[in-house]
Amino acid sequence: MKFNDIDFDTYLKKYPSTDGYFGKYGGAYVSPELKKAMDEITDAYFTICKSSKFIGELRKIRREFQGRPTPISYLERLSKSIGNVQLYVKREDLNHTGAHKLNHCMGEALLAKYMGKKKVIAETGAGQHGVALATAAAYFGLECDIYMGSVDIKKQAPNVARMKILGANVVEVTHGLATLKEAVDAAFDAYTREYKDAIYCIGSVVGPHPFPMMVRDFQSVVGIEAREQFVGMTGELPDAVVACVGGGSNSMGMFAGFLNDPVDIYGVEPLGRGEKLGDHAASLKYGTEGIMHGFNSIMLKDENGDPAPVYSVASGLDYPSSGPEHAFLHDLSRVKYDAISDEETIDAFFKLSRMEGIIPAIESSHAVAYGMKLAREMNHGSVLICLSGRGDKDMDYIIEKYGIR
Ligand SMILES: *Cc1c(COP(=O)(O)O)cnc(C)c1O
Repeated sequence: MKFNDIDFDTYLKKYPSTDGYFGKYGGAYVSPELKKAMDEITDAYFTICKSSKFIGELRKIRREFQGRPTPISYLERLSKSIGNVQLYVKREDLNHTGAHKLNHCMGEALLAKYMGKKKVIAETGAGQHGVALATAAAYFGLECDIYMGSVDIKKQAPNVARMKILGANVVEVTHGLATLKEAVDAAFDAYTREYKDAIYCIGSVVGPHPFPMMVRDFQSVVGIEAREQFVGMTGELPDAVVACVGGGSNSMGMFAGFLNDPVDIYGVEPLGRGEKLGDHAASLKYGTEGIMHGFNSIMLKDENGDPAPVYSVASGLDYPSSGPEHAFLHDLSRVKYDAISDEETIDAFFKLSRMEGIIPAIESSHAVAYGMKLAREMNHGSVLICLSGRGDKDMDYIIEKYGIR
């Protein structure tokens, strides 16, 4: 299928380019030492990951450890309460550890093992990526250093406990504001020192090449499964596919299965409290081109051109940029990016829980809210939503802040 002069039949093979660009977005804007380490990972990825042994081992892990394929559920009661449009969810909440993040962490850790590395290194904000990577490290018997700001360590006690139980070393970062940004810097510093024995594992389709490509490829299992399952269930393709976008990994994985189909694709960003800079994290909708964390993409900037402060009720969506491939698909208009407020998110969180018996992650609730909105606008057809994770981690916070609705 051709779209704005891009041939989507061959898109996934052609993008990114060999130096990691999706159009003008992507690349690897890092120090020469780090560039050397990134090149080593790129070379390893291109050889090891194409081998049938690696692919076979990853498939077995997906089936026997992660519990894949995850099902698609038809939301009968919710659909009927809105009108004639049929809503479906791809159940990444049923993936082991309760979210899609394990899909790329298992891939990255398996790559580390094949490369002969002893350790995996990462940063974490809310702790979700840290827990997924600690799980993968335990499975493969790798050491695991997770860098985390002291402010986040206090806020995210259950995830800190999970990482420690899984055997990870949680490294407290105390400088600056002691949150995610400082943790990223500290993790990159550690990796620059230790890259001979360690591999850095990014938590989304962001960062320097090859991570946006690698994480997309590892997540594409979501979209490939979903397409086959949906056609098997209904005999046709969905009319629309919807996923929430933080860094953009669950959405990129889901979209990868449908880019070459006559399907409308929607990426949902957090509108938070409103459109004012600082009140949201809808970088693709309101941002401009810029470089941060080693890649060129669309980002929210303050008056000095630095990454702007961002806000969302969902800590997993709270990032001032998104992966370079999303910026590319945005400019091509292949994917439409829109935003959903905190208020609409909380409404969808309770609706899905009450009407379907599925408590969604607060990040995923953004996608559910958008799917419900589309269903109100469309007269007929079907919408497939990526339910990126389960909401157990969010229950205490939501009850405290919003009460039971
Ligand atoms: C981390 C997270 C997200 C956001 O990350 P993406 O890379 O944009 O997918 C979304 N949903 C859940 C459940 C998460 O844990």
